[in-house]
Amino acid sequence: MPPPFADEGIVLRRVDYGDTDRILTVFTRDHGKVGVLVRGARRPHSRLGPAVDLFSRCTIQLAPGRGLHILTQGERRSPPWPGGDLLRTTCAAVVAGAVDALLEDRHPDPELYAQVAATLDRLGGSTHDARAELAWFARATADRLGYRPEIDRCVACGAALVDRDAVFSPARGGALQGRCAAQEPAALPCRATTLRVLRCMARDDRPTFDRLRWEPRLRDELEEILLSHLAHHLDRPLRAMELLRRLRPGAGWPALAGGETPPPPPR
Ligand SMILES: [Zn+2]
Repeated sequence: MPPPFADEGIVLRRVDYGDTDRILTVFTRDHGKVGVLVRGARRPHSRLGPAVDLFSRCTIQLAPGRGLHILTQGERRSPPWPGGDLLRTTCAAVVAGAVDALLEDRHPDPELYAQVAATLDRLGGSTHDARAELAWFARATADRLGYRPEIDRCVACGAALVDRDAVFSPARGGALQGRCAAQEPAALPCRATTLRVLRCMARDDRPTFDRLRWEPRLRDELEEILLSHLAHHLDRPLRAMELLRRLRPGAGWPALAGGETPPPPPR
């Protein structure tokens, strides 16, 4: 049997197993995605259980097993997750579900790891707009995977897109305008404002993005475009994404997203 090894990881998924155990899916920095058995995690005074909470970042020591590794030590590295915040928890579930779907087992990707850790830190705090943060993550992840959305040229005819309303087709991987847009009835609305924000994100212009005023329609459009675009490349639907749609203001649920009021989108 190989010796135990230490790593840092993020808990993506958690299921109860047997009377007191848990099985976790952990995205580790140096060993990629692994399955981990936590013996006695659900016992009242378990030392290991609370150390490896859902969406938390932790240092762990694992004893390699035939299928699952066995957790032998664990210590949480991030603040406790704000579990009572349904919106933030749903956004984190979308991140975790997407990463779980995208990663193959035991293929390390330290760069993606750092991106997921930073996203969950911001989602777990209270100073960032959770849904804007999720949109940023979806765009950055699509870019990393080589699925950069096309927002400079119409994906049907190749004409340069101008500063006016467009539509976005997740199936075609980009935006369309004019006559081409009219021929794509299933495409998503992408108003001129939303197109500008997508271009700001494509430039990796985080300072401008952080100063945006998130009026609900802009946020909804951006989220639908970027999550649908990413989901198009996943091999399974994400239930958390559907829940997130139902949490939108106007979807019949109370508005949960707090909004700051800095300047309007860039031109
Ligand atoms: Zn066109």
